[in-house]
Amino acid sequence: MIAPTAAAPASAGRAATHHKQPKPSPDPTQLALELTGRNYLSHSAITTFMKCPLRFQFSYRQDLPREFVSSSLIFGASIHAAIELHYRELFEGQPSPSHEALMERYEQAWQKEATLPVRFGKTETQDSLKDLAARMLKAFQDSELSKLDSQLLGVEEEVRGRIIPGCPDILGRLDLMLLAKDRLRIIDFKTSRSAWNEDQMQASAPQLLLYCELVKPLAQEFGDLPVSIEWIILTKTKSPSVTLHSLSPDPVAIHRIKRTVRSVWSAIKTGHTYPVPSSMNCSSCPFQNACRQWED
Ligand code: SF4
Repeated sequence: MIAPTAAAPASAGRAATHHKQPKPSPDPTQLALELTGRNYLSHSAITTFMKCPLRFQFSYRQDLPREFVSSSLIFGASIHAAIELHYRELFEGQPSPSHEALMERYEQAWQKEATLPVRFGKTETQDSLKDLAARMLKAFQDSELSKLDSQLLGVEEEVRGRIIPGCPDILGRLDLMLLAKDRLRIIDFKTSRSAWNEDQMQASAPQLLLYCELVKPLAQEFGDLPVSIEWIILTKTKSPSVTLHSLSPDPVAIHRIKRTVRSVWSAIKTGHTYPVPSSMNCSSCPFQNACRQWED
């Protein structure tokens, strides 16, 4: 609706004033590029800001070099790379790779990621983690979940779209996308210290709920199929387990995460920043020295 404009009285005898037109708001995707060097928002950027706006500033706005990398981050990424290899081979119609091939991929990924000093947990070493990786990848290969029971549509598929009015494009990377008879399945791999429960699933759901919105156009192409969100969890335990967890996306939860992203984007745009110190946030933060020296 166009707001009515008040006309100046003819008898006022003043020169007509030309009101400045309000500047059009910049395109959110362009603004994201200016603010963060990326023309999109990722779920990781959103959660980083929610946990600590100062860490977001160091990472996304200033692009500061990290002071260290935590072993759990490299370990997760390296296991992920090995599992990705497994599914890529299947996607290309090849037999499943051997355990040796998966371990080789794990080691390559570790070398690639470990370019900064690695911060290990109290009882960990690179060798102890390699042993753990060998057990986890064996458990994965032995599991039924390493076999495909639906048509594989994509491995590490990038999806992006403007799914939230007023916000930049959201970018996601789907670990696995499968087409079942009655639904489109999007699957995320995770390593975990212990078996998952309902709370962990609910806490991880927002990311996949956003991805669910991103793949809706594709689901429509397949006859408006519903989308299911699923996780394959590999535990970092002595005897690793491999389990599948799934959720049917709840429209109320989708609305809530989209509303949350809109608020986070509004906050990012203000440029306000502040530290949120806590043992949970700070122990793994790779900007601890920068944080100590920070002055607003
Ligand atoms: S050390 Fe803690 S408070 Fe400082 S930037 Fe990192 S997470 Fe934020």
